[in-house]
Amino acid sequence: MSPKKETLQFKTEVQQLMNIIINSLYSNREIFLRELISNASDAIDRLRFKSQTERNLLGDDAEFKIKLIPDEKKQTLEIIDNGIGMTYEEVMENIGTIAKSGTAEFVAALEKSKKKATPAPELIGQFGVGFYSAFIVADKVTVTTKAAGSDRAVKWESSGDGSYTIEETKKEDRGTRILLKLKKLEEGEQDFTQEYTLRHIVKQHSDFVNYPVVMDVEREEQVDPSEPMFDKDGKPTGAKMHKVIREETLNSMKAIWTKNKNDITEEEHKEFYNHISHDWNPPLDHLHVKLEGTTEYTALLYLPSKAPFDLFSQDHKHGIHLYSKRVFIMDDCKELMPEYLRFVKGVVDAPDLNLNVSREILQQDKIVRNIRINLVKKIFELLSKMDKEKYEAFYEVFGPVIKEGLSTDYGNKDKLADLVRFKTTKSRDKWISLKDYVANMKEDQKEIYYITGDNMATLLNSPHLEQLREKDYEILLMTDPVDEWVVQGLTEYDKKPLKSAEKGNLDVNKVDEKKKDDYSALFGFIKGHLEDKIKEVEASSRLKDSIACLTGKESDMSAYMEKIMKASGQDIPISKRILELNIDHPFIGKMKHMFETDTTNPKLKEYSNLLMDMAIISEGGKIENPSQFSKTVGELMTSSIV
Ligand code: ADP
Repeated sequence: MSPKKETLQFKTEVQQLMNIIINSLYSNREIFLRELISNASDAIDRLRFKSQTERNLLGDDAEFKIKLIPDEKKQTLEIIDNGIGMTYEEVMENIGTIAKSGTAEFVAALEKSKKKATPAPELIGQFGVGFYSAFIVADKVTVTTKAAGSDRAVKWESSGDGSYTIEETKKEDRGTRILLKLKKLEEGEQDFTQEYTLRHIVKQHSDFVNYPVVMDVEREEQVDPSEPMFDKDGKPTGAKMHKVIREETLNSMKAIWTKNKNDITEEEHKEFYNHISHDWNPPLDHLHVKLEGTTEYTALLYLPSKAPFDLFSQDHKHGIHLYSKRVFIMDDCKELMPEYLRFVKGVVDAPDLNLNVSREILQQDKIVRNIRINLVKKIFELLSKMDKEKYEAFYEVFGPVIKEGLSTDYGNKDKLADLVRFKTTKSRDKWISLKDYVANMKEDQKEIYYITGDNMATLLNSPHLEQLREKDYEILLMTDPVDEWVVQGLTEYDKKPLKSAEKGNLDVNKVDEKKKDDYSALFGFIKGHLEDKIKEVEASSRLKDSIACLTGKESDMSAYMEKIMKASGQDIPISKRILELNIDHPFIGKMKHMFETDTTNPKLKEYSNLLMDMAIISEGGKIENPSQFSKTVGELMTSSIV
């Protein structure tokens, strides 16, 4: 706690983000209210959850609500909640100083997108603008907050121009009060102090919020309601009227999932999805399940159409909110959805769950486990019934996530294997399923071939595939890092084994044993020279036009896997690979001749290096000594022109 007022600078990317939000969302200004109400509702959710185990946190203020106080004359709007509030440290952490992880990357992506046609609001929507959206409408924002259970309050203030102040203050009640000094009203703009405007925005964007969003409104009422307003001829009696202030609730708080499927409009789905996901894009699809029986529950789940910015971040929140009989239990309920479906958002309402359930208990709860199994099944059904175009749009975005399931959810492996899609040497830009692959297999083909790497073009032209392609076999081109784990989890499909084109023996082209023997002396020499780099030199069964490639044993790590591990900073032992040479290639024949004529010819070592470099280059790798490589090739080129 710091007793004096401090003036601090916004972190660079936070300020950048704020500027982007302010500039790009100007035409969508009203969303600030949804964001602030959403934060208030989250804060109440959190307090409610915490108070299950700490009863006295609520004190005598147990009636949760979010209050709006507009002031037309002063042009201010206050958003007040009696949620969990923030301590001094929390304010420091949450607002201004420490940006959410990934903010810098996100800002960079936004900056880049500005140059392209992608509209920034759509991208920003994926990030969730949250608190900072206040600066779209306000010149100055003052946050006064007191954490539940604390006796000290904090005041944070900023004009959004680079710095903010923070100091201790006094506040009676727990919770957060956000005061917006609204920007000067321009001609034709919405006035966010008008009852009608606020009512409309709350109804449109925050109707589903689980707590009352209230506002004091002035009404003309009779002084004595028992007095008749009209006489028996229908004439006004002139009954005395006066103005009174009444607190009215602006949102219906209707739990949309309890409605009948057919009674929910697309618009309602969109608004509800926006509310729970903080994503503005419309959902791609939804799933509404009501199950009765031993495990009773209702679920309303959504598949997003765009990936959230933090899909692959450790901090990523799961999107399932758990309720029991419409009473909120917790958000971010990881137990209800496996990691590889973490992008699914929505609500699960399970009436038999204990409201006081803790996260620890949830993990062992049988009801929760059953619901999860059931929901995963329903999501698979939804995905497999989707039309091709829609599914592919989904897969483009979430395919890499779903694929994680192949190495983590053994029980659903077959279903997941039906859902994955790949691009192949034949399909090129189009996705195909493993089912399609198997249907297209050649009569004599026994295995499903694949190759992994980070570049589609390099894979497509990989020398490892030459003989396979000669046989007209199709090869899956796997460019996703997660594919390395996919092939570890998925070893066969439809009883056909998956086989790496760059590892182990390829049973496609038998190398002539006699001819192989003829080359053993030369290969022994090359191996001796390259001993530090390779473990073996072998006659290749996979090459046709190329001279050399690098391969591994069945159990070895692939080149791509090694690259991924290194990139993630893992300390892995250097595994030597096998240098495969094409003994049908004239160059290897000539080199053999050279070796047999004079085993001490210095060219032999030079050419051995060259073969190694060519093998590395053909798979898109980096060679050790590029200038030596160019020099040798240069000499070869010169000598080839007579
Ligand atoms: P997000 O809500 O996406 O996390 P925000 O920028 O909107 O991001 O808010 C940052 C954090 O500030 C929140 O995660 C929350 O911890 C805190 N916060 C914001 N508004 C409130 C509030 N009304 N009461 C308590 N904490 C809040």
